[in-house]
Amino acid sequence: MALIVHKYGGTSMGSTERIRNVAKRVAKWARAGHQMVVVPSAMSGETNRLLGLAKELAPAKPAEAYHRELDMLAATGEQASSALLAIALQSEGVQSVSYAGWQVPIRTNNAYTKARIESIDDDRVRADLQSGKVVIVTGFQGVDEDDNITTLGRGGSDTSAVAVAAALKAQECLIYTDVDGVYTTDPRVVPEARRLQTVSFEEMLEMASMGSKVLQIRSVEFAGKYKVPLRVLSSFTPWDIDLDEEAKSGTLITFEEDEQMEQAIVSGIAFNRDEAKISVLGVPDKPGIAYQILGAVADANIEVDVIIQNVSKDGRTDFSFTVHRNDYAKTIDLLKEKVLPGLGVQEVVGDAKICKVSIVGIGMRSHVGVASKMFRCLSEEGINIQMISTSEIKTSVVLDEKYMELAVRALHRVFDLDQPAAA
Ligand code: ADP
Ligand code: ASP
Ligand code: MG
Repeated sequence: MALIVHKYGGTSMGSTERIRNVAKRVAKWARAGHQMVVVPSAMSGETNRLLGLAKELAPAKPAEAYHRELDMLAATGEQASSALLAIALQSEGVQSVSYAGWQVPIRTNNAYTKARIESIDDDRVRADLQSGKVVIVTGFQGVDEDDNITTLGRGGSDTSAVAVAAALKAQECLIYTDVDGVYTTDPRVVPEARRLQTVSFEEMLEMASMGSKVLQIRSVEFAGKYKVPLRVLSSFTPWDIDLDEEAKSGTLITFEEDEQMEQAIVSGIAFNRDEAKISVLGVPDKPGIAYQILGAVADANIEVDVIIQNVSKDGRTDFSFTVHRNDYAKTIDLLKEKVLPGLGVQEVVGDAKICKVSIVGIGMRSHVGVASKMFRCLSEEGINIQMISTSEIKTSVVLDEKYMELAVRALHRVFDLDQPAAA
C-alpha cells in the first residue's frame, strides 16, 4: 500500500463522462489499497472562458488589483472540477472530499497569475487519508499570507500535483493527460514524433522550460528538488486496464542517466510562441547598463529569457531580450517610462511575432558540432536566425513565428528523432 498522487488535465476532466471515467480509475487504485490524492485541472476550455470574460471587462491599464481578481476568477474552474470529481467518486461508493487551495492550505507568494508555492500544510489531507477517504486538491491555486487567492500560471496544476506529492512524500506522482507520454516533440506538430520511455530529469527540465507544455516547468523543478518520482501517461486508456500495466505505461522522468539516453545526442525538440522580443537601441556601452535595464524589468516581476548585447559602435550598443508575450506591452511601457529617460535613450522596438525552437539532449555535452548541424539545417530551409542561446544540454534559436513548424519538422528529421533509438 502506497500513497499515490494522480493529476488529471483539462481534457481528461473535459465532460461529466470523462470525470466519471477518472472517478472509476481512481476508485480502482483506491480499491487496490492505495492512499489516493487527486489533483484535477479545470474542465478543458474553462480557464480560457473565464479569462476571456475578464478581458472583455478589463480596464485599459490593468493594475495589480485586476490581477488579483483574475486569480479569484480563474481559481473557480478547479474548484468546480474538484467538487464534481468528489461527487463522481461518491457515486462509485468511494468516500471522498475536495479542498480548494486555501483550505489545505497551499501557501504561495503574492505574485498574482504566476504565484510560487512556498509551503503546504499536510495535516488535513493526512487525517482524511487515515480515515480512508480519497482527497481531491484543486490544481493551479493557492493562497498568499493575506489570504488572497492566487494562481500558479497556465498549466500550473502539474506543479500543484508535484508539490502535493513532495509534501506528502508520495511514492509516485502520475500526470494523466491527453497524450500517452512525453514525445520527441509535440506529436500534434510532428506526427512522426516518438514516445520516450524514459527521459532524464535534466532533459525534461530543459524541454519544459523551452516550451513543451506537457509539463509545467515548475512541476519539473519541484520533482527535481524533492526527488518526486514522476510519470506522464494517458487518461484515455480504458479505466479498467490492469493496474500494474497502467503503472508502468507512459514516460518516466528519471534521475539517473541510463545507457540508452547517452546514445541519443538530441532527445527532443521544444518550441514556444509565447515570447516577444524587445530591443533597446543606442544604449551607452558602460558598466551597469544591463542591470539598469533588466533590474527594472525583474523588479516588475517580469521574467526575461534570451538576452543579447551587440558589439558597441561609437560607444553605443543595442540590447535585446525576450519576455513572455503577456508581458510585452507592460515591459515596453516600463522601459519607456522608467528606464529610457535615465539612460538618455529614446528608442525601444519590439516584435511579438517570434518563436523559439530548441534542441535538447544530454548527449550534447560530449558531442561537438550539434549546434552547427542545427544551424545548417535551418539555413538549408532558408530560415533566418534572430537570436541564439545555449546551455550545456540545449541550443535555442529565436525565429520569425511563421517558420516555427517548418523548423521543428526539419530538425526532427535531421536529428533522426523519427527513427527508433538504437537498442
Ligand atoms: P493537460 O490539460 O493534461 O495538462 P496539456 O495540454 O497541458 O495537457 O499538455 C499536453 C499536451 O502537450 C499534448 O496534448 C501535446 O500537444 C503537448 N506537447 C507539447 N510537447 C510535447 C511533448 N514533447 N510530448 C508530449 N506532448 C507534448
Ligand atoms: N486550468 C489551468 C490552465 O488552464 C491550470 C492547468 O490546466 O494546469 O492553465
Ligand atoms: Mg497542462
